[in-house]
Amino acid sequence: MKSRIIYGPILSRRLGRSLGIDVIKKGEHRKNCNFDCVYCQLGHVDWKISDPSEVADPVTTEEVIDGITNYHKKVDDLDYITFSGTCEPTLNLQIGDMIDRIREISDIPICVITNSSLVGREDVRKNLSKADLVVATLVSGNENTFRAIHRPAEGIELQDIIEGLRELQKMNGAKLSIEVMLLDSNNDYPVNSSDAEVEKLIEVLKYIDPDEIEVLTTSRPPAEKFIVPVPETRLKEIAQKFDEELGRERVRLVLQGLKRKRSNIKHENLVDEVYDLILRRPCTFEQIVQSLDIDKEELNPIIEGLVGEKKITEIIAENGTYYRPT
Ligand code: SF4
Repeated sequence: MKSRIIYGPILSRRLGRSLGIDVIKKGEHRKNCNFDCVYCQLGHVDWKISDPSEVADPVTTEEVIDGITNYHKKVDDLDYITFSGTCEPTLNLQIGDMIDRIREISDIPICVITNSSLVGREDVRKNLSKADLVVATLVSGNENTFRAIHRPAEGIELQDIIEGLRELQKMNGAKLSIEVMLLDSNNDYPVNSSDAEVEKLIEVLKYIDPDEIEVLTTSRPPAEKFIVPVPETRLKEIAQKFDEELGRERVRLVLQGLKRKRSNIKHENLVDEVYDLILRRPCTFEQIVQSLDIDKEELNPIIEGLVGEKKITEIIAENGTYYRPT
């Protein structure tokens, strides 16, 4: 089954209903990225990309515009068009051009969700600054913890990321939201929810000075079994510390739970749409029903078919059963 560039819409805690654009093709790999995060909801990375030049067959601006033009007609109430997907979108250096062209055909706000890995590059910052919103990950102010959590490709350094985020913010283009994914572990793996880590994060966030800071923990089954969500009481405690040090008006604690927002999506190939959604974001049965606005009775045979064909698999997590690509 061939995945498409445009997928969703996805219902998210941060962006409401957004149409996804995946600008890196998987090629022959099950999963590629320039990080291999311990908390990745899509499982292990089997090919680590070090540089944009290593991206085989990058998606073109024309492919994106064709995809949006076709898909857009079927969805009438989007909150965002979002560059995200199964790999780091800034590895495609055409993103800036894609954003310019999307603006010619749509007035829906554009978001780029990035792992921040390449923000030290001037060309990448220029591309990102064209969006309305950049949601950028920062898990630690300490190089060792950063490396333990992200397991980055060669050449990616935390200090370049910190400086790059500060530069991006100074450009005054896109609104910058830093996503702080807090993690706990059930062994002694280095994670980022200790007091010392939180202090260092606050110091670095003050230096970057973003518009918004989101504090959250993992809500889907992570790549590594030893990674567990930070308990809600501790999460609230950390958010409170962030509030005090960084200003309550820009800190947002994201807890689980979404409100259903009815849509009016015209489906053409529901099996492909369900598969495309799961490919980019593992979902529970209920989350698929909500995202695509379909009936449970419609979804049942599709899930059975995809599981039967071994396209997707069931993962049991503490908070429910998720479907993930095999
Ligand atoms: S969480 Fe994001 S950045 Fe990390 S490996 Fe997965 S896709 Fe890549």
